[in-house]
Amino acid sequence: MDKKVIPYGRQDITAEDIQAVIDTLQSDYLTQGPKIAEFEQNFAEYVEAKYAVAVNNATAGLHLAVMAMGLEKGDRIITTPITFAASANCARFVGAEVWFADIDRDTYLLSLDKTRELIESKPKGFFKGIIPVDFAGLPVDLEAFRALANEHNLWIVEDACHAPGGFFIDSKEQKQFCGNGVYADAAVFSFHPVKHIACGEGGMVTTNSEEVYKKLLLLRSHGITKENMTENHGGWFYEMQTLGFNYRITDFQAALGISQLARNEKGVAKRNEIAQQYKDAFEGKFKFQVLPDNFLNAHHLFIIEVEDRKGLYDYLHANKIYAQIHYIPVHQLPYYKNIGYNNGTDLSNSEKYYSRCISLPMYPTLTIEEQEFVIKKTLEFLNV
Ligand SMILES: *Cc1c(COP(=O)(O)O)cnc(C)c1O
Repeated sequence: MDKKVIPYGRQDITAEDIQAVIDTLQSDYLTQGPKIAEFEQNFAEYVEAKYAVAVNNATAGLHLAVMAMGLEKGDRIITTPITFAASANCARFVGAEVWFADIDRDTYLLSLDKTRELIESKPKGFFKGIIPVDFAGLPVDLEAFRALANEHNLWIVEDACHAPGGFFIDSKEQKQFCGNGVYADAAVFSFHPVKHIACGEGGMVTTNSEEVYKKLLLLRSHGITKENMTENHGGWFYEMQTLGFNYRITDFQAALGISQLARNEKGVAKRNEIAQQYKDAFEGKFKFQVLPDNFLNAHHLFIIEVEDRKGLYDYLHANKIYAQIHYIPVHQLPYYKNIGYNNGTDLSNSEKYYSRCISLPMYPTLTIEEQEFVIKKTLEFLNV
């Protein structure tokens, strides 16, 4: 990449990462080998979940997670409009309906109150689950969502793609890492290079439920298992018990993931330093994502809100600062607009947010000089 370009996010590949991949390429297993199990175990330990299942990308992980919840055609789920489309698409893969509830104007996360309103505006049993998103890296208050979900017999799949290493302290003073499976039934992470941990493509599903874990394993690999092999069978024996997929990750991607994961805690700390510098420079000048007490934002993104968003975007790009917009509200995408499940629901917070949001460069290898340049150009354009 041109040295002068400053993207909004990028991977960091070290000599150790490269060596880990080479070592695995020279080993006996390119896929279905020991590096995958090692990655799963390390990841489960890192987020403090019981089980982790590595997959080829987070979109596949979300698909498996909602299938493991038993989501079927005609069922309905609730998610946030301010997310990547995959958070919603996973429900469509199984023919379920996607309903949107508005975001909180300060945290940009799916609003608990708006979700409750939507649920309570419908008959009992109308919805099956909630897919909240730890947007930009800020953890959703899953303790509160769990209480709501329990009242209405709903499952929760946490889209934690932005938030490995994020956590909040719950009402019992317990540290709850994103994806630890305490309040959500399953959680999904992405290892796309713009996210915290780069595998090229890759994802992880975590859960504390053995039943969910077993379903995930089965569905990841064609619905095939060898578990019912008896002494009357030979080593070739297997059963296909359900219609599954090939959503496996490779061992050399897992090796890269293991090496990257080991640096994630440092990366999150660096992201928080960068966020603090943005906040110090912008405090009182523009609105940015509020950090509630007792929450750690893993900062996949750093977003500010400005009046002339298009103007700032163009100005930064002219200066080779490739700021980005996260996201066009999912309910406004043509595919969802045409389906129009919950046309008429007030999603004005999401729409207002979208008209003003812009994501500034945020990644651990962003230098102080680069960040100062971004801050200078931002303030210069906005004349503040
Ligand atoms: C990146 C992302 C996904 C999809 O991840 P892939 O690994 O690219 O499939 C899903 N949800 C959110 C919130 C994301 O940011």
